Amino acid sequence: MTVASVRGLNPDFSDPALHAEGQYIGGRWLPGGGIPVVDPSTGAILAEVPDASVEQGLAAVDAAHAAAASWRATPARQRSEILRRWFDLMKEHAEELAVLISRENGKALADARGEVAYAAEFFRWYAEEATRIPGEFRTAPSGAQRILVDHEPIGIALLITPWNFPAAMATRKIGPALAAGCTVILKPASETPLTAFAMARLGEEAGVPPGVVNVLTTTRPGPVVSAILADPRVRKLSFTGSTPVGRGLLAEAAKSVVSCSMELGGNAPFLVFDDADLDAALDGAMVAKMRNAGEACTAANRFYVQDGIHDAFVEGLTRRMAALKVGPGTDPATQCGPMITRKAVQKIDRLVSDAVAQGARVRTGGVTLGGDGFFYPPTVLDHVPRDAEIAREEIFGPVAAIYRVADEAEAIQLANATEYGLAAYVYTSDLARALRVGRSLESGMVALNRGLMSDPAAPFGGVKESGLGREGGTTGILEFMEAKYYALEF
Ligand code: NAD
Repeated sequence: MTVASVRGLNPDFSDPALHAEGQYIGGRWLPGGGIPVVDPSTGAILAEVPDASVEQGLAAVDAAHAAAASWRATPARQRSEILRRWFDLMKEHAEELAVLISRENGKALADARGEVAYAAEFFRWYAEEATRIPGEFRTAPSGAQRILVDHEPIGIALLITPWNFPAAMATRKIGPALAAGCTVILKPASETPLTAFAMARLGEEAGVPPGVVNVLTTTRPGPVVSAILADPRVRKLSFTGSTPVGRGLLAEAAKSVVSCSMELGGNAPFLVFDDADLDAALDGAMVAKMRNAGEACTAANRFYVQDGIHDAFVEGLTRRMAALKVGPGTDPATQCGPMITRKAVQKIDRLVSDAVAQGARVRTGGVTLGGDGFFYPPTVLDHVPRDAEIAREEIFGPVAAIYRVADEAEAIQLANATEYGLAAYVYTSDLARALRVGRSLESGMVALNRGLMSDPAAPFGGVKESGLGREGGTTGILEFMEAKYYALEF
C-alpha cells in the first residue's frame, strides 16, 4: 500500500490515524490494534497501533532476510540516492512530522522541529557516507604477505529505539544500516510509534524496497526481541534506551553472540568555573537542561558551579527557568511541554522531594502541576546534598540540581562519581583548562562552552555504563559492517 493510496495524493503526515493502520513488514501494512498511543499533553488516546506477536517478529526477520541479498548487491550510489530522497521527503514534510512528534511525545514544537531537522541530517550524512566505505591494503611487517581488508554488511539488524527522540533515534540507526547494505527491523518505543510508521511511509515513497526496512510495535518487547535475536540470520542489535534494559539485552544477545551497539543512559555533569562568561554559561545551561524539557540522554543532570560564580549562576538560571512557558507541545507559545507519562512525573517528583527532605532549597518550581496532562514545572534546586538520589539517577525532566564546588579537582572528582559516562559540559574562558578538564572527564562527549553537542557528522556515544560503540560520524557506518581480511601473496 503506498502513501498516496492511503490518503489521496497529499497525505497529512501529522494525522495520527494515517500511521495507525498496521505493522510494516515486507513492504505491506498489516492491520491490527492493541497499543493505545496517548497524548501526554491531555492524557487522551490519539490512536491505536498493532501489538506484534512473536510470530510477527519472526515474519519481520523473514522479510528482512528475503530482501537482504538484493539490497546488499545494490550499488552504493543507488543506496545513497534512496537515502538522499528520504532526506528530501523529510524536509518536505518537516512541519507535519514535527506536529506528529509533538502530539505523541509532548515535546514543544520548537524542539520537535529541531528533532526533524537533526533526524533528517542522518539520512543526508549517510547518503554521503554510503559511497565512501573504507578499505585497507598493506604489506605485512614481516614482508611475507599483503593484507587486504574489505568491509561487508554485517547482516540483518534489529534496531530498538526510545520515545524521547522518536525520529532521530530511528534515522541515526536506519541511515548507517542501509548505507552499509543491511536490512533492518525497527522496534520503536510503544509510547511513540506513530513517528516510526510515518517515517516508514516516507521511506516507501523514497524507493526503499519492500523488506529492507520493517517496523513493528509490541507491548511484549522481551519475548519478541528474544525470538528475533535467537534467529541466526540476525547479526546486529543496535539499541538506544536505558542502561538496565540495555544490560538485559546484552545478556540476551550473548546467547547467539550478536554484535551490539548500545546507546544507554546518562548523568551529564555541567561544570562552570569562576572564569566562565556567565551569560554564555546560562544560555548553554538552558539548552543543555531544557532541550526536550530535560528528556534527553545528554541532558545536564548535575550542575557543579565554582564558589565565585555560584550565586550569580543560581540567580540567573532561576530567573530563566521561572520565565519558561509550560503548556501543550503543539501550542506554539510552549517552551516546556509535558513529560512522556504520569509515571515519569511521579519519578521526578520523588527525586525532588527526596533532595528537599535532605536539605536542598527550591528556587523555582518543585511542585507537580495538576490536570490531565503530565506536566512538571521548570525547577531549580540549590544546596543539593552531593549524595542525594537526584545526583545518582537520570532525572529526565526539567529540574536543574546545582552543587557548589571549590575548585577544578573537586569538580572533576564529583563529575566522574557516577557509573554513567555519556556527555559532559565545561564552561571556562581558559582554553588550556577546558582541554585539561575535558581530558579528565570520564565521558564519550564533552561540550566546551556549548550547551549542545549532537551532530550527525560527529561520533555520538558513551563510556562506562552509558554504552558501547558510536553512532554518526565517519565510524558510525562500521557498526553495521564486518571487516573481512584477505591474506595475499604476490
Ligand atoms: P527503555 O530502556 O525503557 O526503552 C527503550 C526501548 O527498549 C523501547 O523501545 C522499549 O520498548 C524497549 N524495551 C523495553 N524493555 C525491553 C526488553 N525487555 N527487551 C527488549 N526491548 C525492550 O528507555 P526509554 O524510557 O524509552 O528511553 C529513555 C532512556 O533512553 C534514558 O535512559 C535515556 O538516557 C536513554 N537514551 C539514550 C540515548 C543515547 O544515545 N545514549 C539517546 C536517547 C535516550
